Amino acid sequence: MSRQTSCPFCGATLRPSARFCSMCGKRLTRPRFRLTCGSLLIGLISFVLLCSALNVFLSGSTATSGTSRQDRPQSAAMPASSNSSLVTRSQPAPTTQPASPVPTIPHNDTAITGKQFLEVHVIDVGQGDSILIRTAEGKTALIDGGYDNGLALAYLRAQGINHIDVMVASHPHADHIGGLVEVLNALPVSGFWTSGASHTTGTYERLLDAIDRAKVPYHEVQRGDTIPLGRLTFEVLHSDPNAYDLNNTSVVLRLTYGNVSFLFTGDAEQAAEQEMLATVRDHLKATILKVAHHGSYTSSSDQFLAAVQPAIAIYSAGRDNNYGHPHRKTIQALQRVGATVYGTDEHGTIVITTDGVNYQVHTRYDRPPTADPGSPPLPSNHATQGDRDCSDFATQAEAQAFFLANGGPARDPHRLDGDRDGIACESLP
Ligand SMILES: [Zn+2]
Ligand SMILES: [Zn+2]
Repeated sequence: MSRQTSCPFCGATLRPSARFCSMCGKRLTRPRFRLTCGSLLIGLISFVLLCSALNVFLSGSTATSGTSRQDRPQSAAMPASSNSSLVTRSQPAPTTQPASPVPTIPHNDTAITGKQFLEVHVIDVGQGDSILIRTAEGKTALIDGGYDNGLALAYLRAQGINHIDVMVASHPHADHIGGLVEVLNALPVSGFWTSGASHTTGTYERLLDAIDRAKVPYHEVQRGDTIPLGRLTFEVLHSDPNAYDLNNTSVVLRLTYGNVSFLFTGDAEQAAEQEMLATVRDHLKATILKVAHHGSYTSSSDQFLAAVQPAIAIYSAGRDNNYGHPHRKTIQALQRVGATVYGTDEHGTIVITTDGVNYQVHTRYDRPPTADPGSPPLPSNHATQGDRDCSDFATQAEAQAFFLANGGPARDPHRLDGDRDGIACESLP
């Protein structure tokens, strides 16, 4: 990280960690991740290793990259308020190869937890975005962290996450990066990726300071780049630090696991969608779409959704938020392309588990009492256990985990947070 003591534009003296000049307001230069001979060599070796690994992993699924919408399981249009909250879908097995039930990926923790799945958690952080990804080999990625309300960090802790391999800030709005600062301050993070778009807010300053303080390697990505996550890879489909609207700077990522793919869109609006349609249209198709910009009508154009063809669409929005998210027109557009729609305002945290062939949608609310044995270990203290009060918990941390698992401040059906400050049962040790 470069350190500056004076502004290169106006010469004003600045504190070493400053990212903007306090005199002229200009952003101080930040080094981009550079390609060197060494990193090229490492990249080449990684590529060869990755190819041999993928050869084993995808031997039964390479024929599915052209899966057509007609081949997709037709998700009977299920309204967002459906009571069914554990949904299983299958991706079609490749026609030229025998069905491969589970990709051959090493499962470091299989013996202990039985996990053989990729998990994608769209975390209920109120109004904001935060997505946790856990791979079968134990790697973790966090795309955005919601506001700095403690919810994302608390969720990670409740899930037993003690390390983030890949942290991505889609764009510098506070409802996406606020919680990342808290995670950076609390957990080791192996690398940070973003578009390079900056913002003149204290939250953005705190983000850069936290990255500096924790000495986290910082990378700026462009369309066409990839971000490694263990044996998996994020494709960067959009990233534009110079876009006029910060939402359109969003890093848009696609992650593929066997036959099942995910598209993470940040707050990308229609201008960014048009760019993606013009440049990477063939890469947009995804089984599961994280709906852009909290379901706002400024995103999710018909053309874009036609290219994505999602079977499942998940938006993140706070219950009764002031922005009118999600917009009714967006929900209708998603349903028109055949997607089953879920939202964190209606369903709480939404978890997708997949073995690369089949996938399941687990929602926090209205979840059937008998969970699928292959489902991830959601907190055992689920809302269906009847009414609870603070005396039911030994510690504040235990109460907090239960409180967050049941919707946090947005819901609090057990009224554990009397003063509604996001902290449950403050009287407990
Ligand atoms: Zn946002
Ligand atoms: Zn935004």
